Amino acid sequence: MAREAADLPRVSTLSGWSTGLQPWLRPYAEYLLQRFAGSDVQVTSVYRSYSAQLKLWLTRSSNPYPVAPPGQSYHEYRRAFDVVGPTEVLDQMGALWERMGGTWGGRIGDRIHFQA
Ligand SMILES: [Zn+2]
Repeated sequence: MAREAADLPRVSTLSGWSTGLQPWLRPYAEYLLQRFAGSDVQVTSVYRSYSAQLKLWLTRSSNPYPVAPPGQSYHEYRRAFDVVGPTEVLDQMGALWERMGGTWGGRIGDRIHFQA
């Protein structure tokens, strides 16, 4: 996903990104991103189909981030989103996300991954 990230618009212009999440999760995720607006962060992945996750799984050796097997990623259940940005900003976002009750991938070597 890292290679595709550069082609995506900044989160401030990526309107509608949160529609890839379950409705109950959207306000929390939007709040998190709004808190860090202007911090050079961008959402790179939200919902993934089973086949999209399978494709990632099959190419996981070239992915800098951990990849869950198809059927086991929260992205497939609209309960996860990935955010790229400066490391220190992602760490701050992760800390806030955890205080909000979410699960942050930074605990398992997947700093860009946020789920609930
Ligand atoms: Zn993720």
